[in-house]
Formats: sequence, structure tokens, C-alpha cells
Amino acid sequence: MAHEIGHAIGFRHTDFATRESCIRGGNEGQAGVGAIYIDGSPTGADTTSLMQACAGGNTTSIFNRNDRRAIRKVY
Ligand SMILES: [Zn+2]
Repeated sequence: MAHEIGHAIGFRHTDFATRESCIRGGNEGQAGVGAIYIDGSPTGADTTSLMQACAGGNTTSIFNRNDRRAIRKVY
């Protein structure tokens, strides 16, 4: 649910360019809206981000430090 709230407030998947958290990777493309880099957020893989495309073993049900930093930056 928190992941979906992340989308509702405007966040894309952390790994939108590779979908490396999923069994089948790929690029989600522009999704009609593009993506804006949030200053201070990681540019590489963030395996514990709640906004990964697919939930994995490292993903928790809370926003990680980088997710929270992005929320504070935007809001
Ligand atoms: Zn999602």
C-alpha cells in the first residue's frame, strides 16, 4: 500500500530504467510523463527502496532512507 501511495504522490519506480528488481527486466520508458531526477537520490540501484518495480527479498514495507529523503525534497 505504501508503494502505491508513493505513486500517488508522483514517484516512479526507483529502477524504472532497468526493472532490475523483477525477474524480467526492461525499461518502463517515459510512461507519458518522463522522469525528473530528485537531487540527492541515488542514481544507481537502491535494492531496499520501497519504490522498486517488484518487491524482493530486500524490500521492506516502509520507505527507506533514500525514499524519505526524496519525499522531503519534493514535499
Ligand atoms: Zn509500482
